[in-house]
Amino acid sequence: MKHVTAVVFDLAGTVVDHGSRAPVATLQSVFEAAGIPVSIEEARADMGIAKREHIAAILSRRLGHRAPDSEIDRLYADFIPRQFSCLRQYSDVIEGVPELMAQLKTRGILAASTTGYTRPMLEVLLEHAGPQGFQPDIALCPDDVPGGGRPAPWMCYLAAICLKVSPLWSMVKIGDTQNDIVEGRNAGMWTIGITRTGNEVGLTAAEWEALPDKAGVLERAGMRLRNAGAHYLAGSAAECLPLLEDIEQRLAAGERP
Ligand SMILES: [Mg+2]
Repeated sequence: MKHVTAVVFDLAGTVVDHGSRAPVATLQSVFEAAGIPVSIEEARADMGIAKREHIAAILSRRLGHRAPDSEIDRLYADFIPRQFSCLRQYSDVIEGVPELMAQLKTRGILAASTTGYTRPMLEVLLEHAGPQGFQPDIALCPDDVPGGGRPAPWMCYLAAICLKVSPLWSMVKIGDTQNDIVEGRNAGMWTIGITRTGNEVGLTAAEWEALPDKAGVLERAGMRLRNAGAHYLAGSAAECLPLLEDIEQRLAAGERP
């Protein structure tokens, strides 16, 4: 492709961890241990932002105001080892991702990733995802940028700089949360919201297969990502190639995101 230069992938729920389960399981266990049990919905609502901020956001929803830093720090200190203890277990690359990565390479499109995980957590995921077929040209996390993580565009800007691609409208952000979409839009990129394998559906591949009302669940997930500003929706990253080709044509016709 001539016009699309790079894709910025989210990690959990987009390229690894079908259903984005790892953060939810960990957040629930942290809050449970602190005597503040939270529902799956509460744990998923702010997904995509940096993990310390995510903990602060859950607390804020409960308290009606921002919790003191000491309280956030206490829960975050508990979160870190709990997340590490289960991260590998949730590091399987989602079906079709290696094939998409190969297609991108053939077309000369570069691949970046952004995440809400910390650098050490990101390294664990990369170490496991690489041999399974997901090896981005650059992988970034909120620790890498002074302004922090999503929904701010800084990780996407840094991805453009590291990959030496421009302009930002030649890039496509693919992610499974509303914060992913807002990040991409804030960066001035095209955005594709991932429904079936992601946070908004929140199921493992096996749970999805067993689900009776697939269409309704997909529609509600897609609605939330559309409302966040997604240009396109796809069930999984594996289904994104035709959408990238569509973006290529729109760019060639002079259209911008
Ligand atoms: Mg995600």
